[in-house]
Amino acid sequence: MQSAGQNRSIILAETTVEYSLRRSRRAKGISVAVYPGGEVAVTAPLWLAHEDIEKFFYSRSNSLLRVLFRERQRPRRIRLANGAGEFEKNKAFVTALVHERLNFWNKNYGYSIGKITVRNQKSRWGSCSKKGNLNFNWKIALLPGEMADYIIVHELCHLGEFSHSRKFWELVARTIPNYRALRQRLKNYR
Ligand SMILES: [Zn+2]
Repeated sequence: MQSAGQNRSIILAETTVEYSLRRSRRAKGISVAVYPGGEVAVTAPLWLAHEDIEKFFYSRSNSLLRVLFRERQRPRRIRLANGAGEFEKNKAFVTALVHERLNFWNKNYGYSIGKITVRNQKSRWGSCSKKGNLNFNWKIALLPGEMADYIIVHELCHLGEFSHSRKFWELVARTIPNYRALRQRLKNYR
């Protein structure tokens, strides 16, 4: 059971952080989620004193602010409909999104990327050609952000290692340490 979120704020290292707080009977501990665009959502057990939530923030202020500043740079995701004609309507937006995410992640790799295309395809999320061209299914924009990012990083890492070798997965893990879980979740989205 959860209460509706309340909007609150806290000052960490001279930065005002606004967040929504949800109280949950089931929560075992505090969880903080930072979304693209910089929205912060906190879930805490019903019984926990507000003071303890603030203590939690202070104890993790460095890592929290780092994530927050990073996420504030990222575009807020737009909900897209999945249907006939949707591809043509959204192609430009999804192409811009893919470019932005590729540039963002490629700061960690520094690969030279060939042509980038976004297509309406049935079976694949993305692919990489021997020439270094990257191709993505436009529907990755309908996925939760971290899954879309996994697909983008996956294809990007093929520029460093073409096969799915151990070295390839090490490259992916460099920026997406939880790639195994995301890969597993992706199988439910076919
Ligand atoms: Zn692959």
